[in-house]
Amino acid sequence: MIDRRGVAPLSVLLVLAGSLAPSSPPPTPYPDVPLGSGVYEVPGDTGRGSEGRPNAGFVVTDSGVLVIDALGSPYQGKRLLATIRTVTAAPVRWLVLTHHHPDHSFGAIVFARAGARVIASPDRHMLIADGGDDELVASWDRVVGVQELQGFAFADTPSIPVTGDTTFVFGGRRVAIAHQPDAHTAGDLTVWIPDAGVLFAGDLLIEDGVPMVVDGSSAGLLAALDRLAAYHARVVVPGHGRVDPDPGAQIVAAHRYLDSTRVALGDALAQGTPLTRVLRRMPPPDTGRPVSLASRRQRNAVVIYQEMEKRLMGVGSGPAATGPGVSGPAPSGPRPPGLVPAAEIVVGRPRVARAARFTPWATLLSTDSLAMRLAAAPGQVTVVDVRTDFGLYLKGHIPGAVYLNVESLRSFADGVPNLLLPAESYETLFTRLGIRAERPVVVYSAGDTRNIDATYVAWILSGFGAPVALLDGGFQKWELEQRPTAREYPAAVTGAFHGRRFLPDRATRAEVAEVVRLHPADAVLVDARAPDQYAGVAGAQMRRGHIPGAISHFWQTDLRDDLTHVFRDTAAIRAAYVAQGITPDKAIIAYCNGGLESSHLYFVLHDLLGYPRVRVYDGSWTDWAARPELPIVTGPNP
Ligand SMILES: [Zn+2]
Repeated sequence: MIDRRGVAPLSVLLVLAGSLAPSSPPPTPYPDVPLGSGVYEVPGDTGRGSEGRPNAGFVVTDSGVLVIDALGSPYQGKRLLATIRTVTAAPVRWLVLTHHHPDHSFGAIVFARAGARVIASPDRHMLIADGGDDELVASWDRVVGVQELQGFAFADTPSIPVTGDTTFVFGGRRVAIAHQPDAHTAGDLTVWIPDAGVLFAGDLLIEDGVPMVVDGSSAGLLAALDRLAAYHARVVVPGHGRVDPDPGAQIVAAHRYLDSTRVALGDALAQGTPLTRVLRRMPPPDTGRPVSLASRRQRNAVVIYQEMEKRLMGVGSGPAATGPGVSGPAPSGPRPPGLVPAAEIVVGRPRVARAARFTPWATLLSTDSLAMRLAAAPGQVTVVDVRTDFGLYLKGHIPGAVYLNVESLRSFADGVPNLLLPAESYETLFTRLGIRAERPVVVYSAGDTRNIDATYVAWILSGFGAPVALLDGGFQKWELEQRPTAREYPAAVTGAFHGRRFLPDRATRAEVAEVVRLHPADAVLVDARAPDQYAGVAGAQMRRGHIPGAISHFWQTDLRDDLTHVFRDTAAIRAAYVAQGITPDKAIIAYCNGGLESSHLYFVLHDLLGYPRVRVYDGSWTDWAARPELPIVTGPNP
């Protein structure tokens, strides 16, 4: 066994943070970047992977500010505080540390003195602290300089320890803080702000896709990456480096890197290649730059080699290799619990072990991202064309796309013309289309009017726990940008589609009737149809009008009213829903005529905005209007 410390000595100390501190520095603010309503990133100064000052952030709530990471010294902490002060004078009440490494936590004392409560993992164990706290401070001192550390005291011991998944409510805002065990360190926390769609990933992610396994394990890190992907975040802030416009990209890159490293080292072990020879074959580490790209790769190789060795010998725990090819139940996704407690905290949930599966895709994919991914992994993506007209598919489609008419997904049942099919029908159909657990799926519709077909497919696929992305702007935008199209039909994909048990977020007629009858304060019906149908002056169903109490939110208003028909800015969409009282604390049932338009609302509320309790009434107005005993209302009001 190789002594980890022999290869990764104390000097590894991470980061060459903003080294030249002035002697009595005024706390000048850093630039900040707004990420969504009241959520800000304070970008680090790096352009080089893990080197430099890390990213931090803060969230403004009605009762104070939540800070995410304290940076690497009291000096940096003061500058971070000054940054917050340029945005709000509200008290800083909570500080979350994504982990205990000094570059993220040594500024904590500033926030503790300002009255903040520290939220962190109680597990402070890390390699660089093996020599004790004094040695840790002394070595960090050599990194950031003595002036920066003036006024330093340890303040990273949590007053609110987090050891599982916990949903906090800070000043009315829900924030999910999850412990990601044994990943980058023993005590990594991620911070998810569902109403803004923003995820702070800490050092589980680094901009260049090579996170460090320094105090954790590659198995733990892979499992954590799967959980990060399952948030379907709109914005993911890595521990170091830029925020990628495609929120899934850094997760994909990190996953791929770790997977391939595990495979390569597993092979080396199987062939009896000693670690020293493996390391010699790699680019050498950079002396004096312990966290440069080459140095990180070397250090990770050491840790992962040992991990694979233990696995080979049957010691150690952790999942087997994850990634493409591994099936199993999909992660159910980090669904926050339905109940919002009025108190500051506190819905603790025991961590449920989830089988790892790779769900790397953003929920909404730009044409740019799709083009890039198709170029990077040709034939490895299932692209589904759901334009209504089959003839258009024959004339030309996005290269590699298969065809699906959305009408093959619903049919007559129980006296209703348009209900969901049984799970087996979908499994057969998805198998034929080449949809597989290990292949990312992208669905596109025409983009001009029938976006609802793509969201309907997405709604059904998410009922199986299958990750699926929607092409923003659909075929129309792809064509407007003169991107390549093809007339060839893709070859069949082997294997079969296996999702988890089919549990679509679906509401029945009886459940809708219950909401109409009881009018619970925390439930809301939303009508996704055009206003004239809602008012009862148009429509082909048996009766015209809407379900009593339903709020009218026409699905097309969530899209930009231009040629591209891309989704409007998330903050604007959210504001529009909130203004109508359609808020994330409520149980929402969307309906339309037959389930398509309401699937659009489902996609927006559930997948883009992160609302936890959204369902589609698939029978919809077609079903409701056909039953004379059920009440209806006409006119423009609920
Ligand atoms: Zn770190």
